Amino acid sequence: MSRLGDRRLRCYVLLVAWSWVCTTDHAGRFFEMAAAADTLDLVSLEITGKCQLACAHCYADSGPAGTTGTMAADDWLAVIQQSAHLGVARVQVIGGEPTLHPDLERLTNYALSLGLEVEVFTNLVRVTPAMWALLAQPGVKVATSYYARRASVHDAITGRRSHDRTLRNIREAVRQGVTLRVSVIEVEDGQDAADAVAEVRELGVRNVGIDRLREIGRGVRQRRPDAGELCGRCADGKLAVLPSGDVTPCLLSRWVVLGNVRSAPLGELYGQSRDARLALVQATEAAGMRDDDKCGPDNDGGVCQQPTCLPPHYAPY
Ligand code: SF4
Repeated sequence: MSRLGDRRLRCYVLLVAWSWVCTTDHAGRFFEMAAAADTLDLVSLEITGKCQLACAHCYADSGPAGTTGTMAADDWLAVIQQSAHLGVARVQVIGGEPTLHPDLERLTNYALSLGLEVEVFTNLVRVTPAMWALLAQPGVKVATSYYARRASVHDAITGRRSHDRTLRNIREAVRQGVTLRVSVIEVEDGQDAADAVAEVRELGVRNVGIDRLREIGRGVRQRRPDAGELCGRCADGKLAVLPSGDVTPCLLSRWVVLGNVRSAPLGELYGQSRDARLALVQATEAAGMRDDDKCGPDNDGGVCQQPTCLPPHYAPY
């Protein structure tokens, strides 16, 4: 065979092999996961570990003794600016309780000025008129957690008498037309999370998700923090920055530290951490956590099945 014919034959064999690889389910899944490790849509900003509540299941281990950590306001502004530069569409401002951070308004307005959508995840225990004005702005969405219709059950989970205040502010958010999603977290037996979901829907909240206890932080019971405790969407277009400046693939994967934004820009950490993030995506796949039809806990109202990010070892109603 001539050299030209030999080269054509090799090209043909390679083309057939590549086509075969691309059409197998396994390879397709791999490429999906690789793409998940390359896109960045959401950066969560855990701006404080301080919270009025003391939830027994808090994955962030937040509470009244928590602090704003080592990140100054300028550090957070830089992270927001870098997120916008990376093409991120949304930032989530969370804690702890983010409304207790003295710079929440400044950080939120800066993100909005860069064209970012902002979700403020708050316990809705105390919302001042100025805070309502901030939360009601176009481009701002609000998320909160709720546990039970019965105040005694809700309060036992949050460690404080918070039920009535949170419920009152859910009603107020609906009244003001604030974009709100509520996450009901099933923490203990007899809680009747289904009834809590029904109650919140009756109040007019359309985006209501449900999730199980994640055994991370104060949520650890019998299991331990690993890929089986993550939502299947961790590292899927996300990053989270903690009050220390540490960067993790998502809020729950706190034991996987990709670097610190006070040492290197977010984009650099993101690029350098591709293998670690892809490994976490593969670990959640191997643990049976990834399901394309389920929403992540941060679902912003897109179409997906409920309950949110259902792990196989969790069998609710
Ligand atoms: S309200 Fe949220 S941040 Fe505060 S203690 Fe409860 S789970 Fe943790």
